Amino acid sequence: MNWLRNFMAGRYGSDQLGWALLILYLFLSLLLPGKFLRYLCLIPLFLFWFRFLSRNVLSRAAENRIFLQKAEPVFSFFRKKSAQYRDREHRYYTCPGCRQTLRVPRGRGRITITCPKCGCTITKNT
Ligand SMILES: [Zn+2]
Repeated sequence: MNWLRNFMAGRYGSDQLGWALLILYLFLSLLLPGKFLRYLCLIPLFLFWFRFLSRNVLSRAAENRIFLQKAEPVFSFFRKKSAQYRDREHRYYTCPGCRQTLRVPRGRGRITITCPKCGCTITKNT
């Protein structure tokens, strides 16, 4: 294992952008039909290995920082949905008037929910 440690010394390794490139490669390799398009899906894999083995750590870190800034709304969406799914004591609804997320306690039967932002009311089963 010492040869691997020596080989990887000073190289960038993996990060969030690298994982995103690998996931993109897997999706493309499963979805793209035809021989020519299969070669196209190798581009994300090549980029992953290029970044993984790169010794230009500062540039790779800057690329990852830009990726994280651009992908933050997507990560934020999934974090929010995951937190809502794990919350067993509340139900979440979206206001039809202003798209505001409304949180109400579970197990209260049929209730009328008033949006605090726009005043719109909806009746739901909790
Ligand atoms: Zn509203």
